[in-house]
Amino acid sequence: MTTVLVGSARAQTPPAQPAAPAAPAAQPPRPTFETKKVEGTDNVYIFRYQDHQAMFVVTRDGVIATDPIGYGRPQAVTTYVAEIKKVTQQPIKYLIYSHHHFDHIAGGKPFKDAGAAIIAHKNAKTRLAVLQDPATLVPDETVDTVRTIKLGDTVLEFSYLGLNHSDSSLVMRLPKEKIIFAVDFIPVGSIPARGMIDSYPLEWEESLKKVLAMDWERLIPGHPGPGDRLGTKEDVQNFLTFLQDASAEIRVAAREGKCWDKVEKEMKLPKYAHWPGYEQGLPFVLRRYCGLWGRGT
Ligand SMILES: [Zn+2]
Repeated sequence: MTTVLVGSARAQTPPAQPAAPAAPAAQPPRPTFETKKVEGTDNVYIFRYQDHQAMFVVTRDGVIATDPIGYGRPQAVTTYVAEIKKVTQQPIKYLIYSHHHFDHIAGGKPFKDAGAAIIAHKNAKTRLAVLQDPATLVPDETVDTVRTIKLGDTVLEFSYLGLNHSDSSLVMRLPKEKIIFAVDFIPVGSIPARGMIDSYPLEWEESLKKVLAMDWERLIPGHPGPGDRLGTKEDVQNFLTFLQDASAEIRVAAREGKCWDKVEKEMKLPKYAHWPGYEQGLPFVLRRYCGLWGRGT
């Protein structure tokens, strides 16, 4: 484990079952939410609500929070703020959006009400200003390519590495702790699914190479990795190889005229069949690369 439990809740969870002879038992239900301090750090936390998670950092001059993760569930956001208040009485100074997708950034109003300034990539602001989603606040400040904020003794650096899973993804890096928080464009050990549809596959590969060149050791993903583990550079390399393999195979098929139907009905990527999410994610991967190599988009 790389994290230390701080708080959790088991909403509507029945009492623990009495001990029974060991069988390959089902996993106990997961708490609805959890807050954990990242092991080996003084002040870096992960707040998870169901299958989304965000990083927050506590400093002597205030809190830097990320991603409110409140799409369709405002209670996740009030819970998130309450969990921060359990750790510190310091004010929440910033709320940073990882990228523009609503499942990660909807629901930020309680942070704004607490006095936080919302920061996002400039493309996120452009999109949100058009969409006017009532639950998703438009950022107060933006990042173009690089920006650093310092609060207390904590330095947090934002980098925009180009197009990938979205056109607004920021990598947030804590240089002292050698930790990055990056959402959706670096899944930890799993196959991407629905998120392929509005992605930029070729540029994505380039942005992963840039992540590999950065100085960090542990990655906090926006969705928990297997066993809640954090990511490593090996995960980034493996995922880059996955994209390259998928792209190369589907390019051949596309040039033989097999997109969309034949590829979508018949193609498999057996090398990755053991990765979590393979069955669910494969159709999205095939469709996205048929879009690229069979259509030119
Ligand atoms: Zn996303």
